[in-house]
Amino acid sequence: MPQPIAPTANSVSPAVAALLSQARDCAALDDGLTIALRTLDGAVATDDRAAAAHLCCFFLFRMGLGERLIEMSDTALPLLRKASMSEAYAETLRWAGICACDAGQFGIAIRHATEGYRLADEQNDQRGRILAFSLLGGCFERSGDPWQGERLLRDGLALARRHGETYPLLATLNNLAAVLIGKFYSLRDGAGAAEARRALDDSVPLAREVLQLAPTLNDPYFDVFALGNLGELLVHAGELDEAGSLLQQALAKANDGGYRAIAPRVECSIGEWLLARGEFAEANRLLHGLLASESLPIATQLRAYYALYLVHRSEGDATAALAALESFRRLESQRSMQQLRDRSELLVTRVEADESQRKVLERAYSVAQAHASRAVVLERIAMQDKLTGLGNRRALDTHLAELVGAAQSIGAPLSVAVIDLDHFKRVNDVFGHAVGDRVLVQMADLLTELTRTDDLVTRTGGEEFVLVMPDLGPADAFDICERLRLRVSRFNWGTIAPELSLTLSAGIASTPDYDAGQLVERADLAMYRAKRGGRNRVAVAP
Ligand code: GH3
Ligand code: MG
Ligand code: MG
Repeated sequence: MPQPIAPTANSVSPAVAALLSQARDCAALDDGLTIALRTLDGAVATDDRAAAAHLCCFFLFRMGLGERLIEMSDTALPLLRKASMSEAYAETLRWAGICACDAGQFGIAIRHATEGYRLADEQNDQRGRILAFSLLGGCFERSGDPWQGERLLRDGLALARRHGETYPLLATLNNLAAVLIGKFYSLRDGAGAAEARRALDDSVPLAREVLQLAPTLNDPYFDVFALGNLGELLVHAGELDEAGSLLQQALAKANDGGYRAIAPRVECSIGEWLLARGEFAEANRLLHGLLASESLPIATQLRAYYALYLVHRSEGDATAALAALESFRRLESQRSMQQLRDRSELLVTRVEADESQRKVLERAYSVAQAHASRAVVLERIAMQDKLTGLGNRRALDTHLAELVGAAQSIGAPLSVAVIDLDHFKRVNDVFGHAVGDRVLVQMADLLTELTRTDDLVTRTGGEEFVLVMPDLGPADAFDICERLRLRVSRFNWGTIAPELSLTLSAGIASTPDYDAGQLVERADLAMYRAKRGGRNRVAVAP
């Protein structure tokens, strides 16, 4: 059984701690919940009750029983605060916030997100900030503003990438992918179709990254999300074979784990998948069954009605298609009303809150937005080479040490390449400085094109570039540099200036010497060896 953050207070009595650990060890979520509820009932001391209520919330969250979770969090949150169990408190806030968001209770969700942000800020807890951000972004999308949601989540993603911990990164990627697909659904049917398609294309690589990261958390719950989200996206992107296999895996895992809230979403995707494959009768049966089930989230209902409309239309049943479309439109306008109401509820909440509380809310809220964007922008500027947009020397100094440390901690290889253009001074002398600049920009594009997103690409000075390639040993790094060398020597530089041609020399150094400074120095020496050897070549450091 995956574990929630266990409350840190050691004041939980041994008897209650034993019961709760028994609950956590249950194979089925229902059994765990039963024990946790019984423990909560029997407990008297605040810390015991707080720990038990927190665990109840965990089970309710995983089981997708959002309404009961929100109710339980009313008990759990004050207890956790009183017991000073701050991490469990923040975690419960997030669970309740996510469920409120799903249920369209935008006011509660945004209050929880801002409260979570305020706490994280107070404790200078970057992980908490990132997770609160992620929740805020989701709130905006659900409340009908996917653009604001996307902006917040992209800022959050930049923070999460720098922070480096897997869980907040995964949560942010996952939420961003979800926001983009939400944007796809709300724009696909009309004038926004092109923007919808872009959102879809943008979200696929994010969902792939989630699928790659999820297994490292060793918790099937995240695998289900990862598989289900990517499968859903690929159905709409038309990659049906891969989509089908991902969705079947997601459904099996969701049922195994008892994650009742996720299963219907996956089933809806399978309905869309059947539709895309032209299996209309099957799709029809599945979608009708799904719509007959109780407490289906409104977003899933909307998707199911829309898919059903397309199914009937494809079958040539105009009457049934119209009925499905009407249900879709009715539900959509209901949701818009709800979104409007929720937003005005939030306004009222802000007005009614007493002055001090209101200030905190507003500050947390605006800081949440300003913080990420400002910090991210400033940092981006300070680490960016103005001409090419690549990272600069400072970016290299900052990130190389991190990357080398990360590689060393898991014993993975890493390579550094120093790349210098040959006789670049001549380019400037013959064609002028402006042409030289355009060459550098084009070089940056070629470098970016031939490297992976995990690689760090920097311009460290004039016409010198440094490439950091995590996970690659000398042979692979050599292949990449050779490809780059050939690409540059064969590139049609004539488009920049007639008669212009260019070559580069590169030097490569690789671990196991996990010393950032040494790696660059060795690569530099190898690069000079390539120059001495006649230029237009790649040399590998001993
Ligand atoms: P080698 O093959 O030995 O590397 O010869 P090289 O001419 O490339 O060597 P050197 O390092 O001496 O010359 C680099 C030149 O790069 C000097 C300078 O004019 C030019 N340079 C440096 N920064 C910039 C820039 O931002 N824009 C342009 N256009 N040129 C630059
Ligand atoms: Mg040069
Ligand atoms: Mg040089």
